[in-house]
Amino acid sequence: MEYHIGDIVRTKKQHPCGSKLWEIVRVGVDFKLKCVGCDHVITLERPKALKIITKKISKEDKEYIKEIEKRKQKNA
Ligand SMILES: [Zn+2]
Repeated sequence: MEYHIGDIVRTKKQHPCGSKLWEIVRVGVDFKLKCVGCDHVITLERPKALKIITKKISKEDKEYIKEIEKRKQKNA
């Protein structure tokens, strides 16, 4: 699968904030992923990133919408 900046992906590992969804902010030799739940950014070597990403998620996906809602409530 090809990944682009701005794509939302799901990973095997859950971030401590509870989210499993990340936005891709950089692709290349290293991938940079930003947690949808808390904006924490991680850098991973490409093979590692490809290993933990399970699928691409659309921004219309219920899982993504739920995560955004959760976040709004946290920040309210
Ligand atoms: Zn997080």
